Amino acid sequence: MSSLLIDNIGELVTNVAGTGEGGKLGIRRDAAILVEEDRVAWLGPARYAPAAARRIDADGAAVLPGFVDSHAHLVFAGDRAAEFAARMAGQPYTGGGIRTTVAATRAASDDTLRGTVRRLRAEALRQGTTTIEVKSGYGLNVADEARSLRIATEVTGETTFLGAHVVPTEYADRPDDYVGLVCGPMLHAAAPYAKWIDVFCERGAFDADHARAILTCGQAAGLGVRLHANQLGPGPGVQLAVELGAASADHCTHLDDADVDALAGSATVATLLPGAEFSTRSPYPDARRLLDARVTVALATDCNPGSSYTSSMPFCVALAVREMGMTPAEAVWAATAGGARALRRDDVGVLAPGARADLMILDAPSHLHLAYRPGVPLIRQVLHNGVPR
Ligand SMILES: [Zn+2]
Repeated sequence: MSSLLIDNIGELVTNVAGTGEGGKLGIRRDAAILVEEDRVAWLGPARYAPAAARRIDADGAAVLPGFVDSHAHLVFAGDRAAEFAARMAGQPYTGGGIRTTVAATRAASDDTLRGTVRRLRAEALRQGTTTIEVKSGYGLNVADEARSLRIATEVTGETTFLGAHVVPTEYADRPDDYVGLVCGPMLHAAAPYAKWIDVFCERGAFDADHARAILTCGQAAGLGVRLHANQLGPGPGVQLAVELGAASADHCTHLDDADVDALAGSATVATLLPGAEFSTRSPYPDARRLLDARVTVALATDCNPGSSYTSSMPFCVALAVREMGMTPAEAVWAATAGGARALRRDDVGVLAPGARADLMILDAPSHLHLAYRPGVPLIRQVLHNGVPR
């Protein structure tokens, strides 16, 4: 059996609450971690470390669970840099640019889409992301939604059918018919490649009745539920997510007290996507309010070509701390263990015996540096499935 010992770890973030310093982060000092195959086999004080076939000297650095990016749209063609520039010159974001990407995606070859997905997956891995969720949503017809998901399965098991991203142009005057297509032939073609189903529940996209119909069909087909909710304005999305037992309500930028209460009393994670507010120059969600109400919060990138073209979880951590009222510890937890909760996973986002050996070694002595040194490439090395990358 191949074994690998990482020792001389100055700060080991385990996310096992109550086992060390830092509350939920479960920080251990002067630690070592033993990896066998793709799993964590042991961790503890460096002086008790068992022997192993190979060794990595962390040289006093911090070691953390790999980031769990629970919200990304990687299957697309084209870019929308000009739209970004126009927004920065004062035009508002409406979500309408999604249709531009749909046209480019439909016209692209499999290899073009596959190249983009792999490039972005590799880019995220270099920045510490060991688990990533990938949505469809730029095909919006039966063949292109199924194709998008099939390509997504080549890089992740966390795939999400988002046929209800927007109503495509050809259905603009008959949205009920499009909902019927999504619930019927499109879901049938997509489900073999999807673990989750998602809807963009927003003014200009899908209302609560349409979203409920689509998500209920997805549940009946065996898919887990997640939802784009309350991004551009107040709305019914968060309440619907809680009603349907969704794993996650994503964005949560515009919440009223009833929304916060509903989340607090549920198993639905609030996934915050500050890259979207950054890239659309919009007000950030109030993470402090959610945390104070004991809502479980995750951070994710929303990586997509329109409203958040970043794959960087460290960037999202820095934004969450600077702009959303989170402490560095809360943001790091939300970007690792929080993301795992949003995907209903207990084998990632945590370092403990039996967990997946997905971790990162920083070029820094502490997790604090992820927010303290924004924009700096601090990920020295990543282990994914126990393999150094
Ligand atoms: Zn999204």
